[in-house]
Amino acid sequence: MFNALLVNKDDEGKTSASVTEISEDMLPDGDVTVAVEYSTVNYKDGLCIGPGGGLVRNYPHVPGIDFAGTVETSSDDRYKPGDKVVLTGWRVGEAHWGGYAQKARVKADWLVPLPDGLETRQAMAVGTAGFTAMLAVMALEDHGIKDGPVLVTGAAGGVGSVATAILAKLGYEVAGVTGRPDTADYLKSLGATQIVAREDLNETTKRPLEAETWGGCVDAVGGEMLARVLGQMKYGASVSAVGLAGGAGLPATVMPFLLRGVNLLGIDSVMQPYDNRLRAWERIVTDLPMDKLEAMIQPATLSDLPGLGKDILKGQVKGRVVVDVNA
Ligand code: NDP
Repeated sequence: MFNALLVNKDDEGKTSASVTEISEDMLPDGDVTVAVEYSTVNYKDGLCIGPGGGLVRNYPHVPGIDFAGTVETSSDDRYKPGDKVVLTGWRVGEAHWGGYAQKARVKADWLVPLPDGLETRQAMAVGTAGFTAMLAVMALEDHGIKDGPVLVTGAAGGVGSVATAILAKLGYEVAGVTGRPDTADYLKSLGATQIVAREDLNETTKRPLEAETWGGCVDAVGGEMLARVLGQMKYGASVSAVGLAGGAGLPATVMPFLLRGVNLLGIDSVMQPYDNRLRAWERIVTDLPMDKLEAMIQPATLSDLPGLGKDILKGQVKGRVVVDVNA
């Protein structure tokens, strides 16, 4: 028997989440059973733990869209007992039981070996949010980052914190947008040199194009802020669109694309092929300073998760929540 955060749905459709002892034979089918060490709290997890169940496809359910741990048993030649592994994506924690448990069973294809130089706790301090931040930076690099500061929206959140630290380490000037002025020192400690107040970019403008300001952008917010930012990009610059913390709509015009050749790059971490995942994890080891990663960590246990799920949906989590599932 082992502990898991189990989400149940009653006959009236009301969901509840609590730490419950479950047995290994309840785990879903898969090639590899992993002794989970750490998981994290991402925006999607907040939706899955919260009322209504968000993206959960089957009940009872173990949420947790990512985890890192040690292989216990494997029927796939690529993994053997004792191997350290990390998982993000593949709708684990939504359609397949995830990382909020002391054990998980998954398809071997969904795993990647933990890269040399990274421990399981550090891998989950990065987690889905940080992995996605790396993908977003790689997409900007592929399209060319222009002169001028690189803007990071939702900067004090998970994606934003990791993107800020990576971009600063790579030598870019980073401007972080935040709605929480009290996080300015934190963002500067990660390497941001400019703090932009959220309200400055939330105000709508009738002008589809404004002064060319940003050499690139990692956007975790979407909505009106993304629309505004598109009109402030330098000629030929790119925006990696990662998230929708500020809304799923996009009240933009085509002018930034037609008159400034701006690229809007969609970033999806869920269905990344194995080679891309491996490449991104290897880049994380080289391009994310571990002392800065340490400064982002908020430790948590399985029983903290219902409260943390609410916090992340309200945009109140700073940095990365790392869940020690054995604590
Ligand atoms: P967090 O909650 O940690 O960060 C989001 C940040 O956005 C908040 O901390 C806050 O930053 C800012 N924010 C929140 N609400 C608003 C608002 N109404 N208007 C403007 N800014 C707001 O979440 P994550 O960083 O983990 O994820 C960010 C987004 O990226 C989510 O939408 C998530 O679903 C998505 N995502 C997408 C992935 C993909 O594969 N494409 C993978 C991972 C995440 P501040 O206080 O600094 O303003």
